[in-house]
Amino acid sequence: MSTLITNIGELTTNDPDLGRLTDAALVLADGVVAWVGPASSAPAADTRVDVELRAVLPGWVDSHTHLVFAGDRTAEFAARMAGKPYTAGGIATTVNATRAASDDELSAVIARHVAEAVAQGTTYVETKTGYGLTVADEVRSARIAGEHADEVTFLGAHLVPPGADADEYVALVAGEMLDAVAPFVRWADVFCERGAFDEDQSRTVLKAAAFKGLGLRVHGNQLGEGPGVRLAVELGAASVDHCTYLSTSDIDALAGSNTIATLLPACDLSTRQSLPPARELLDAGATVALASNCNPGSSYTTSMAYCVTTAVLQMHMSVEEAVYAATRAGALALDRADIGHLAVGARADVHVLDAPSATHLAYRPGVPLTHAVWRKGERVR
Ligand SMILES: [Zn+2]
Repeated sequence: MSTLITNIGELTTNDPDLGRLTDAALVLADGVVAWVGPASSAPAADTRVDVELRAVLPGWVDSHTHLVFAGDRTAEFAARMAGKPYTAGGIATTVNATRAASDDELSAVIARHVAEAVAQGTTYVETKTGYGLTVADEVRSARIAGEHADEVTFLGAHLVPPGADADEYVALVAGEMLDAVAPFVRWADVFCERGAFDEDQSRTVLKAAAFKGLGLRVHGNQLGEGPGVRLAVELGAASVDHCTYLSTSDIDALAGSNTIATLLPACDLSTRQSLPPARELLDAGATVALASNCNPGSSYTTSMAYCVTTAVLQMHMSVEEAVYAATRAGALALDRADIGHLAVGARADVHVLDAPSATHLAYRPGVPLTHAVWRKGERVR
């Protein structure tokens, strides 16, 4: 079963050789891109879809979400908008609700949010544990996450559970909890932040996870400058996420490493922080990814388009940089070569915009522009 998508007005391939094509076509077969080139020379396929000069992109790669949760934090959000500051401690509210929820309830929540993301052009989703914070609840979260998300990250080090001793909890996370969760996940992550885990505690968890064979990710520099970025680079993490407050040496360290700087602007806006220094990172030579950080507390959106719009309008990224950050760079942050681009052999994850150019993502802010989506070669919208 093959599909020809033709009459593409503007095709963003994210492939260094192909670049951006006009009057283009794509053939999808067996879940991958089988052909890319000028519409006039496209081969036949079982199904032909004329997209009438619309723009086509790789599907969004959302490399940072927290979708295994229950409960609601509308009141906390409203209080914050009324002037109350954001702190890491709000996570405990979601932990209590998540522990009390049944497996079916948690499964329904993540399924609903993944479907919401796919309907907006997201074709690859990472999600994390971190609202269980007991061995049993973290294992359950990882297992349920794996039923719905493409990649799962262990975030037992999200918050020291209220009432627990921090050092005892770190030993649990880096020991028994890691052993129990590791079979269900590819990654481990730590919230290295004041009010969460300090540098030594974070290093303990990350080194134990690396020893166990997991890839590393870090939540760092969200609420102020701190050790998160430095630690992520030192330990060779695939990504350090947030990067809202960076020193010059943090920017230099990222630029000189393979660690991706994953920016989460919807979170910064929702918590009324500054926006991250995207321009400085890019100008220094760092690779910047964009992700939603969808979670019920600090960033309750699945919209990658919103992140792209914000990156362009408020963070001084070009449309091309922002689209790349939300597709190919997200794939790099997840160490995946087969997604986030549309060269022959890539996974057939295709996002058709109801617009003639990707520029409309910023030119028409807030307007829903997803026209059609293919995921692994299957039309899902
Ligand atoms: Zn996060």
